[in-house]
Amino acid sequence: MQKEKVVIIGSGPAGLTAALYTARANLNPLVISGNQLGGQISITNEVENYPGFPEGTTGPELVELMQKQAERFGARILMDEVTAMDFAKGSPFHIKTHGDEFEAESVILTIGASPNRLGIPGEEEFIGRGVSFCATCDGFFFRDKDVLVVGGGDSAIEEALFLTRFVNRVRVIHRRDELRAGEALKRRAFENEKIEFIWDSVLEEIRGEGKVESALARSVKNDDAFALDTDGVFIFIGHLPNSSLFEGQLVLDENGYLITDERMMTSVPGVFAAGEIQDSVFRQITTSVGQGAAAGMMTERWLEEHE
Ligand code: NAP
Repeated sequence: MQKEKVVIIGSGPAGLTAALYTARANLNPLVISGNQLGGQISITNEVENYPGFPEGTTGPELVELMQKQAERFGARILMDEVTAMDFAKGSPFHIKTHGDEFEAESVILTIGASPNRLGIPGEEEFIGRGVSFCATCDGFFFRDKDVLVVGGGDSAIEEALFLTRFVNRVRVIHRRDELRAGEALKRRAFENEKIEFIWDSVLEEIRGEGKVESALARSVKNDDAFALDTDGVFIFIGHLPNSSLFEGQLVLDENGYLITDERMMTSVPGVFAAGEIQDSVFRQITTSVGQGAAAGMMTERWLEEHE
């Protein structure tokens, strides 16, 4: 069994930043990358709101740079997936991957959350070419365009309102005739001239030649199918934190997010968390990076105090 001081699980912006900080503290961290190095940003084509890149950058470029910077100070990245973790007995923690087993004095969990998918034809195919799960990231690219927003919760309405800064028209398509979103957001959306609603309807297919051009919808009331011309489809039907591996071991909130204290520590001493696995509010690369740095610093301090 391989012994480690710090094992970071997840390789998105939070994980790679935690790796940079713990590597610079001479802790020689091991990052277990998961099935996609870089996490969600590795499938984000354009990133224009990450400071330091006045011309913008791409998700893959950012991942590569963050990886290089962490490795420069001694972080090691293992391309493998965690299959089991045991936090019950306290530090050192037992971690199993497909190919290895580790004993870690401390652990930083950064395995993120995944946006729920509709599971319809065209959805996966057009990600980055008209299908988006993040208005803050991609809204700018739809200046003067016409977009659809799927969902009726706070996220869908908040993001629809955000999109009105750029687009000509947002049509919110919702499966019921009543929004789940809170009153204040609802009122703002109903008062906004750029927002229209398509009630009691679901999307069945996203279509286009190389990029999104239209969508096929169906009324759940009378089963009628209808086509909608559109330049983009923004999908906000909830997020699922990737926390199923920790259920019963760490304290989660009612939506499955890890609960951390002000030092980014979970309910088990020595187990820290950063990024979207513990953040249901901000969900930005910049905020994940900040949380990753904080978790790295607090891990270093915790190890120091426990040696
Ligand atoms: P949510 O509240 O779970 O809403 C998801 C929406 O998507 C619902 O309207 C739901 O329809 C719809 N939906 C779910 N599955 C669908 C499917 N397969 N096809 C079509 N529609 C589907 O998720 P959220 O909006 O991401 O919010 C998550 C949590 O964060 C909530 O607690 C929310 O209050 C909070 N939040 C708060 C703010 C804020 O306060 N400013 C902003 C964002 C999020 P139904 O309504 O019919 O179920």
